[in-house]
Amino acid sequence: MKTLKIGKADVVPGSPNTLLYDGIVVDLGGKNSELPIQGEIQLATHGHADHIAGLFREAKSKFLPPEDRWGISLLGRRMAVYGFSCNESSLFTYDLIKEDLQATFKDPEVQVISTPGHTPGHVSYVIGDVLYAGDAFFGQRVLEGFVFPFYVDFWKAMESLAKIKEISNSVEGIVISHGPLYDKRKMLDLIEFNINYGQKLVNRVKDSLSDWVTSQQVVVKVMEGMGKKVEEISPTSIIMNERTALSIINGLNVDITTTIDGVKFRLHH
Ligand SMILES: [Zn+2]
Ligand SMILES: [Zn+2]
Repeated sequence: MKTLKIGKADVVPGSPNTLLYDGIVVDLGGKNSELPIQGEIQLATHGHADHIAGLFREAKSKFLPPEDRWGISLLGRRMAVYGFSCNESSLFTYDLIKEDLQATFKDPEVQVISTPGHTPGHVSYVIGDVLYAGDAFFGQRVLEGFVFPFYVDFWKAMESLAKIKEISNSVEGIVISHGPLYDKRKMLDLIEFNINYGQKLVNRVKDSLSDWVTSQQVVVKVMEGMGKKVEEISPTSIIMNERTALSIINGLNVDITTTIDGVKFRLHH
């Protein structure tokens, strides 16, 4: 098994990158879940399917933030990705491994930091001298590939990024789930890149709202504006990116109307 030293932790490269530190495993998933990785403690940053395989392994304790328990059922995962408006329904808080998961996680070696935005319950972990930030921000190629970073709450994600930037000064290494494994200096640059990218995206969304448009039309306009060709814009990418776009629109001063094509928005002027 190939690992990389980041601070005092070992990281198994993958998508997600998996962190190993003194019997603690964070975000075991994707192809890495085929590896024989055991830990006393299995932690997940959030409920997305590619981050939770470790929770189904034998371990003394396991943690997934309670607000992300929908991630353990297939229906919950689908609804969470494509959008649902009845979050409180027991359908979406259904939990397959409830007995094993505690509501809060306490360990002298682990600091749990609430970093919502990507999902409602997303957390980051400071373990030893390393900050594992999960999907709170992304590698440059991931950002430019999807155009919109996947944030169910874009504005909370930006606040979380500011929090991460602050914490990152006091650690030796910073690791994200989907992106390259860089030294601290380059990771600080990547945080800055994510913050600027978010600002750029807000401006693009604003520009697309000069006349009445649906959130899906906003996505297409922004993707085209960011250089994507028509054949690169799939229905899946529109629906996924629509979640982030809606969240950005929600924080702007817009007029709203309902039409046969759905809800339309226009920048208030
Ligand atoms: Zn995720
Ligand atoms: Zn992920």
